[in-house]
Amino acid sequence: MNFYDSERMTDLLKPHGYELDNTAEDADLIVLNTCHIREKAVEKTYSELGRIRKQINLRKEKTGKKSIVAVAGCVAQAQGKEIMKRSPWVDIVVGPQSYQNLPELIAKVDPIKKNKHINIDFPTIPKFDQLENQFFDRGPSAFLTIQEGCDKFCTFCVVPYTRGAEYSRPIKSIIDEAKKLIDGGAKEITLLGQNVNAWNGSGYDKSVWGLGKLINELAKIKELESIRYTTSHPLDMDLELLEAHRDIKKLMPYLHLPIQSGSNNILKLMNRKHTALEYIKVIEKVRYYKPEIAISGDFIIGFPGETNKDHQATIDLISEIKYSQAYSFKYSIRPGTPAGAFYDHVGESIKNSRLQEVQEILRAQQMEFNKKFVNSTLKVLVLRNGKKKGQYLGRSPYNQSIYFNSEHTDLIGSTVDIDITDAFQNSLTGIIIQNKSI
Ligand code: SAH
Ligand code: SF4
Repeated sequence: MNFYDSERMTDLLKPHGYELDNTAEDADLIVLNTCHIREKAVEKTYSELGRIRKQINLRKEKTGKKSIVAVAGCVAQAQGKEIMKRSPWVDIVVGPQSYQNLPELIAKVDPIKKNKHINIDFPTIPKFDQLENQFFDRGPSAFLTIQEGCDKFCTFCVVPYTRGAEYSRPIKSIIDEAKKLIDGGAKEITLLGQNVNAWNGSGYDKSVWGLGKLINELAKIKELESIRYTTSHPLDMDLELLEAHRDIKKLMPYLHLPIQSGSNNILKLMNRKHTALEYIKVIEKVRYYKPEIAISGDFIIGFPGETNKDHQATIDLISEIKYSQAYSFKYSIRPGTPAGAFYDHVGESIKNSRLQEVQEILRAQQMEFNKKFVNSTLKVLVLRNGKKKGQYLGRSPYNQSIYFNSEHTDLIGSTVDIDITDAFQNSLTGIIIQNKSI
C-alpha cells in the first residue's frame, strides 16, 4: 500500500512541476514514505533522515539550493512532532490519510523562516475524494487501493491506529481509477486493502456488494486481463468471493490469507476471532471452489505467551495447509497496542530458532510448489526486462516470478506462453513459445 501511496504522491506532484528522480542527491523535494508495521521502522526512519540530512547539506554547499524534506506514511502518523524535534531539517510531516494536501504544504514551506508543517489528521472527507484524479504510466501491473484501515484490532497490530477506521471506496471511483490505469497501459490490477476482502459498497443494483461482485464488475472491462487482491482476512472470505474464484477467469488463482499462528490459545490472545480449524475449513472451501489455487500467508513467531506447544501447532498447521509461499516475522512490540503490555514476552533466541524452523518448512513448501510446474506451460504477463541482456521477468497466474529470454524487444505488457524448464526457490525459468500473439 505504501508503494501505491508513493505512486499517488508522484502523480499528485507532477502538475506542480515535480518529476520522479532516481536519486535524492539533486532533488528539490525528498519524500520519505515510511512503514510502522514492525519494530525498527522508526529507527530506520531516523537513520534514513540522517543520510538525507548529509545529502541536502552537500547539495546546499555545492549549488546553494535548498531541498524540501517531507516524511510521509505511518511512522509520520505515529511520531508526528517528535520527527521535527529529532530531525529539525524536516519541513513537512504528513500522514497516510492526509498526503492529498502535499502540494499545499510544500507551497507553504519557507526556506528562510524554516517553518514546519504537520498534517496527520484523519479527514472527514475521504482522501480519495480529494486526490486529484490524474494517473500516469504504471506499467503492465498496477496497484489500486479499494479499502483502507481496520476495525479488527488484533492485539499485536498498529494498523487501526495509523491507518484509521475501516473504509471502503465507492464502486464508481474504483472503476474510474481502473479505467485510467488501463488507459495508462495496465493489463493487470491488484486491488489493495489492509483487509481487502472486507470491502463493501452500494452496488449498481442498490444492494450491498462485496469484493466478489466488485471483481465481477472490473472483469467486464475488456482490456483488463487479470485481477488480484491482497491482503485478506479469514473471517471475510464470503461465498461471493469464492464464486468469483470459480467463475471469473480474469481472477488469478492466488490467495494471500494470513492466520498468524496455528495455536488456538495464541489466536485468542491475538484477538483473531477464529480458531485454527475454522481457518483450515476456509482453505478447504477455497480449494473446493478453485482446486489449483496457490495459498499464501503470514505468521507471527514468538507472540507473548507462545509455548513450545503453541509453536508446534503452527508447524502442524503449515504442514497441513501446504503454502505456495508465505511470510513469517518475529513478533515485535508496537507502541500503544495491547500485546505490548502483555507480561510474558518470548526471548530473542527462542524467537530466532522458532522463526528459522518455520522458514525452513515454508521454503521447502515453496520449492515443492514451484517444482510442480517444470515441464508445464504457464501464461506469463511480461512485467519488465531482467538484469541480463535479452532477459525478461514476468509473473505467473500463481504469483511466481518467471525469467525467460527473447530476442523480441517489445514484449513488456504482453502475455506469453512459457514452457517451464527449471524451478528455484523464488522463481522459475523457461522458454518462450513463439506463438502468433507475439
Ligand atoms: N490484515 C492482515 C495483515 C496486515 S499487517 C491480516 O489481518 O492478516 C501485515 C502483516 O504484518 C501481518 O499479517 C503480520 O504477520 C505482520 N505484523 C503485524 N504486526 C506485527 C507485529 N507487531 N510483529 C510482527 N509482525 C507483525
Ligand atoms: Fe492488523 Fe489485519 Fe488485525 Fe486489522 S485484521 S488489526 S490490519 S492484523
